[in-house]
Amino acid sequence: MTQEDHCDLLFTGGIVVTIDEQRRVLDPGAIAIKGEEIAAVGSVDELADYKAKRVIDCSDKLITPGFIDCHNHLFESMLRGVGEGMKLWPWLSQLMQPFGDRVTRDEAVAAVTNCALEAIRYGTTYVVDNHYAPTDLDTTLAVADAIASTGLRGAVARGMYGHPTAISDQFGFDVLDRTFLYSVDDEIDITRAAMEARPPGSKVEIWPCPENISYNPQELIIRAVELAREFGTRWHSHLAEDDTEQGLYRDQFGAGLVEWLNAEGLLEGGTFAHCIWLDDKDIELLGDTGAGIAHCPVSNQYLATGIMRLHDLRTANAVVGLGSDGSCCGNQDLILAMHQAVLLQRVNTLDPTIVMAQEALEMATIGGARQVGINAGQLAPGKRADLAIIGLDAPQARPFNNAVGHLVYNGRGSDVEMTIIGGQIVFEDGRCTMLDEEAVMEEAQARADELFERLGINQFRSHWRN
Ligand SMILES: [Zn+2]
Repeated sequence: MTQEDHCDLLFTGGIVVTIDEQRRVLDPGAIAIKGEEIAAVGSVDELADYKAKRVIDCSDKLITPGFIDCHNHLFESMLRGVGEGMKLWPWLSQLMQPFGDRVTRDEAVAAVTNCALEAIRYGTTYVVDNHYAPTDLDTTLAVADAIASTGLRGAVARGMYGHPTAISDQFGFDVLDRTFLYSVDDEIDITRAAMEARPPGSKVEIWPCPENISYNPQELIIRAVELAREFGTRWHSHLAEDDTEQGLYRDQFGAGLVEWLNAEGLLEGGTFAHCIWLDDKDIELLGDTGAGIAHCPVSNQYLATGIMRLHDLRTANAVVGLGSDGSCCGNQDLILAMHQAVLLQRVNTLDPTIVMAQEALEMATIGGARQVGINAGQLAPGKRADLAIIGLDAPQARPFNNAVGHLVYNGRGSDVEMTIIGGQIVFEDGRCTMLDEEAVMEEAQARADELFERLGINQFRSHWRN
């Protein structure tokens, strides 16, 4: 026996959907993990000689790469189920921002920790958390540490505003007293300090994130991109979410949002949430520059913001991944996001072939990995050992016919039985392994109770509105 035949974990017997370059599905297959990486993937027979510290029988289970959430706001989970029936800008300026502006560090950390556990339970292995309140250095790092404490990997995209602009005023942000707390200089300085403290390669690293291309000062966006390039990270923002942004921007600056980003050379390395309101030229530019698009189909439906041109963006070579966009618009379930991504396009185009289940799974895995710049999203030797193991021994999986169709149309996040991140089992037997879930839930509830009381918003907790 050679040294190479030893590994830490051997998953054997399941249906392995590799998303590798050949898109192999091994049924039954096996995966050997050494340290943080995948050592081998093959048929059960091919890996039969592996001696593992622990062998996990995956009969009647589906193994996929872990899911990558390209756009999230974990702390917003404080307001789950609140704020229905509002358009985007009133929803932000009258609810989310005033609420966010009054959240304390400890409240944010409690909500982020709890929500990160939810994500792990649904097979998410990497999250881009756009944290926008509070964003002092201490809280930014505490949020990154809270995510890491659950075993989840990711990036905290530190939200930045700089000063108000004519467009932010038009969106109703002029009534906010604490959102524009920091100058452009301060925003960049704090983000730089956070990036130095959690540099690229950290379990949870920091990215610059001007909150929105349309209403943030152009100088802030330009300097955020310079900072990302200096550190070699991605940068993140919301782009073209609402149908009014492109017109307002063009009126003021004589160019559309994507057009301006391209003219300034800012698109490369950018990852953008939503990208709904684009013209053909915008799509071509996003594709040519390999920009990342975080498609958030559940949020787009919840807030009635519109339907992204998914097929056109993928055809143009944009790097499309999926995002949950926080728990105010749905939940952390990326299987639900895959499902909705497919159905939304079909009903919009009346074309049942416009996007298929396999493409949705690609977006949730390899598309996300390419977008965030990690060596994951595929089950192949040398890739990071980020896996989701999904149970098939339940009525919704009988009769069982095929893996990907089952997952996208019949699966749900709660079918995930085990989540492995960097070779570490972080969810097993119905429990997250890194933290005491009861204590985390209790803390999140108590903090939210206190916050609702303090802000005088308990009316939002009414179970039925008359
Ligand atoms: Zn968002």
